[in-house]
Amino acid sequence: MTRREFLMVGGLASAALTIGSDAQAKKQTDAVLRISSQEGIIPGASLQEKIAKMEKWGIEGLEVGGRGLKDRVKELKSALAGTNVKISAICAGFEGALISEDESEREKCRRSMKEILIAAGELGSTGLIFVPAFNHQKPLPFVEARKVLIDQLHELAEYAVSCGTRLLMEPLNRNEAWFLRLLADAAAICRDVNHPGACMMGDFYHMCIEETSDMGAFLSAGKYLHHVHLASRTRKLPGQDDRDFTDGFRGLKMIGYKDFCSFECGVVGDREVEIPKSVKFLRDQWNKAVI
Ligand code: MG
Repeated sequence: MTRREFLMVGGLASAALTIGSDAQAKKQTDAVLRISSQEGIIPGASLQEKIAKMEKWGIEGLEVGGRGLKDRVKELKSALAGTNVKISAICAGFEGALISEDESEREKCRRSMKEILIAAGELGSTGLIFVPAFNHQKPLPFVEARKVLIDQLHELAEYAVSCGTRLLMEPLNRNEAWFLRLLADAAAICRDVNHPGACMMGDFYHMCIEETSDMGAFLSAGKYLHHVHLASRTRKLPGQDDRDFTDGFRGLKMIGYKDFCSFECGVVGDREVEIPKSVKFLRDQWNKAVI
C-alpha cells in the first residue's frame, strides 16, 4: 500500500467513525427512563388504588408475579384500562427448575413457564423473568448446566415469541445463585441461543455485589437487555443509601434502552412519602448521567 492509498483508507475510516458517532448520538436521545414497580411495593387497599397512585407519581409500569397469573388476566386488564400504566415484566412464579439433572423437574418448569407466558402475552408484558438456578437447587457441573439450559431455551424462546412476549433471564449474586451472576454471562447465553425471545435483565442490587462496572455490564448486555430491577446497595428504594445509579444509567443511555426500570426492594419509612421521593431521585440521577 502506498502512502497515498494509506491516507485514503484512513479518511474513509474516520468518515465511518463519524457516521458511527452520529448513530450513537441518536441512541442517546432514544433512551428513556420508564419507571415501573412490583405490585407489592405500592401502598393501596385495592389494585385500582395502587394504579391511581402510580399514575400520580409518574410510575408507568406494573410488575406482577407469575403465580396464578392466568386467573388474574381479566382483573389486571380492567384495572389498567384507561390509565397510563402498562404491565412491565412478569416476575417468575413457575415450578420445577430448568437446570436440574431430573428431566421431570425440567419438564415441570417448561410446562409451568409456558402457562405463564400465555398470560404474559395476553397482558402485553415485556417478558417473563426467570433465574436459571438458585443456591438451594442442586448444582450441576458448569459446562453441563449451561448446555442443559440452552437446550431448553430454544423451545421456550420460540414459545414466548408465539405468545407475543419474551424470556428475561436474571443474573443474581453469589449469595443467592451458583450459576449466573454477571450480565455479560447472561448476554453470552442469549447470543448462543440466538432467538429474539431469549433475552435478559439486570438488577442494580445484585450488580452492586458482582459487577466491576454498572456501565460496562449494561454495555455487554446490549440488545439483549429488556428489563432492569431498581434497588439500592442495601436493597431499599434508590436514594435510601449511598448507591449511585449514574454509571449504570450512562450504560442504559449508550445502548438506547427504552424498556422498564422496576422497583424490587424494601422501603424505609412511609411509602406515600418515600416512593415519590425515590422517583425524583432516579430522574435526577438519569439527568446527571451525561455521556
Ligand atoms: Mg431482581
